[in-house]
Amino acid sequence: MSEHKHIPDFFAENVFNDEVMKARLPKSVYKKLLRTIEDGEPLDMTTADFVANAIKDWALEKGATHYTHWFQPLTGSTAEKHDSFIAPTKNGMAIMEFSGKALVKGEPDASSFPSGGLRQTSSARGYTAWDPTSHCFVKEGSLYIPTVFVSYTGEILDKKTPLLRSMEALSSAAVRFLRLFGNEDVTRVTTTVGAEQEYFLIDKEMYDKREDLILTGRTLFGAKPPKGQELDDQYFANLRPRIAAYMADLDEELWRLGIYSKTKHNEVAPAQHEMAPIFTTTNLGTDQNELAMEVMEKVALRHGLVCLLHEKPFEGVNGSGKHNNWSMATNDGQNLLDPGDTPMENLQFLTILCALIKGVDEYADLMRLSAASAGNDHRLGADEAPPAIISMFLGEELDAVLKAIEEDSVYRTQTQAFEIGVNALPSFPKDSTDRNRTSPFAFTGNRFEFRMVGSSDNIACPNFLLNAIVSEELTQFTERLEPFKGSEGFENEVKALLKEVLKDHRRIIFNGDGYSEAWVQEAARRGLPNYPSTVDCMPHYTDEKNLQLLQKFGICSPEEIRARQEVLLEKYSKTIRIEARTMIEMARRLLLPATLDYVQKLCSSIVLKNQAGLTARTEERMAGKLSDLADAFYDATQNLELLVNEACDIHEIQPQAQFFHDKVLAEMERMRTTSDTIERIMPCAQWPIPNYSAMIYNV
Ligand code: ADP
Ligand code: MG
Repeated sequence: MSEHKHIPDFFAENVFNDEVMKARLPKSVYKKLLRTIEDGEPLDMTTADFVANAIKDWALEKGATHYTHWFQPLTGSTAEKHDSFIAPTKNGMAIMEFSGKALVKGEPDASSFPSGGLRQTSSARGYTAWDPTSHCFVKEGSLYIPTVFVSYTGEILDKKTPLLRSMEALSSAAVRFLRLFGNEDVTRVTTTVGAEQEYFLIDKEMYDKREDLILTGRTLFGAKPPKGQELDDQYFANLRPRIAAYMADLDEELWRLGIYSKTKHNEVAPAQHEMAPIFTTTNLGTDQNELAMEVMEKVALRHGLVCLLHEKPFEGVNGSGKHNNWSMATNDGQNLLDPGDTPMENLQFLTILCALIKGVDEYADLMRLSAASAGNDHRLGADEAPPAIISMFLGEELDAVLKAIEEDSVYRTQTQAFEIGVNALPSFPKDSTDRNRTSPFAFTGNRFEFRMVGSSDNIACPNFLLNAIVSEELTQFTERLEPFKGSEGFENEVKALLKEVLKDHRRIIFNGDGYSEAWVQEAARRGLPNYPSTVDCMPHYTDEKNLQLLQKFGICSPEEIRARQEVLLEKYSKTIRIEARTMIEMARRLLLPATLDYVQKLCSSIVLKNQAGLTARTEERMAGKLSDLADAFYDATQNLELLVNEACDIHEIQPQAQFFHDKVLAEMERMRTTSDTIERIMPCAQWPIPNYSAMIYNV
């Protein structure tokens, strides 16, 4: 990039956002649309036609020829089907046409999307409905219309619908709650998210030689290189030119799409990086994160690179997560996780904090499974990612404040003492948070950072569950406190409530080292659930309390939750099945032949040397060792194939996933160990796939 570019000139140039809407729509139409966006009022067809026409004109100016309803099915990727704007005229010519109906509703054939048995294939119709709370945008010649995806009979088939519903639920619960604290003007509370996205970049040429990366996104074989991340020389290191060029290009693309890409840096592992945008509403943030991942992959290709979004592309170095920074904002601009300056604000904040403490403790299983996938299993609980045990980090200061509440004692800072007795509200200095990178759910001053989420995950799921949990707790608190609203006893009642909550749920707070073995023991003593893998936590999706929670707020019906559980477990099994079959294929067609070739070479050398009257001790030993390893490798391959077949014969979903976890995955690990041992002995030139050093140190 040589010429100087002025970012504000092109920022969001491809987005049909509020600014464009205001400029392009007649005032009355704009106002009606705003009521739909902000208050969920249905859009009448005449208005929809107006809006559609304006969007079409704008999109045509941006070079669009097609439009697509863009949605987020349960597959985990986004989906799109493009229709052109063209319509025939009587004289055999064409005009560009786009109706309100086409904007608002689409009817894709839904039969090939997972539904967890909700939709029989015979009635395969599903429909997509425009979500006007997100923004339309133009990309690669098409107008993208963000939509939700439901079955013809109304069951949800996507990730966005529960998120939107949870945002509504949370808004109502939070507005009612805020009235208790004298917030009379707030009419809406939105949840906000900033998703820090980690990723790896490797050279495309290397990638193309690795069938495992191509088919599964992660390396299934590969000996650890002599140098990993132990020198800590990659985190925040200066950007190598190729990476810098990629990041500059990525930023520009994201900015054009209205995504506030803000922070970029090298991450802990070699070849690992991060992009963090400025936070926005969880709805828009989810769409933008999906879009960002896609753009990251596409831009990489232009630079001869491949962007890996898998949670654990390389064994032995850090995996990738997506830190889900979450908070709540009122329509009058308060961040509800900002402790505030006045005692009343402090009290409101502490009450919300306690609602979160109670919620995260009671629904730790939901939080855990919101980040569960075959890929993320390799990361959670490894010694560089958050443990699979849910706990909360609050920092010393806040912890001391809460202790004082719990024990009716005096809270002291270095300079001041605060009475938290009967008639004094707790008050504490702002900006007192410290950092703890090992906690899965950490308070970071004005938001919580949920670090369990995997790098390839759609963030709708963790956010809709979190929103549901917080809606429930705020509602419970409100019901308890409402009778005391405005009375003298209010503060005392709040304090009594907080004391109770802290007494019952203090166990979820942990400020120590979450990566340590000691914490695993301690968490067990505290009775906190520890679900190491997807198969351990997923059954809890349908625990009665969880079904009730999601049904109560109209977010998902029990059938919809059951369907989701089924889809997730099936995806888990399929992922491992594909990985296992990829391993078998690579072993048989690449790695074993290469090993045997080399053994043969060694043997020829032995014969030749012996003929020449020389000994061949090195060759003999190497050939012997490799030959034994090849036998073991072959046996493991046969065994893995038998196990995969056995797994495929299991027809119940949970037992099948369990078998894939206990048997297939375990055998895959054994097989890999053997192969990695062979790789360490084989000459580089004879090993048919690029090794770890080549891949992670080559960009
Ligand atoms: P860190 O390195 O401390 O994790 P980053 O700057 O990489 O910080 O990322 C922090 C993320 O948190 C950013 O995406 C930021 O926009 C987001 N964030 C900040 N405030 C809020 C908030 N109130 N709600 C949601 N996300 C927030
Ligand atoms: Mg960061």
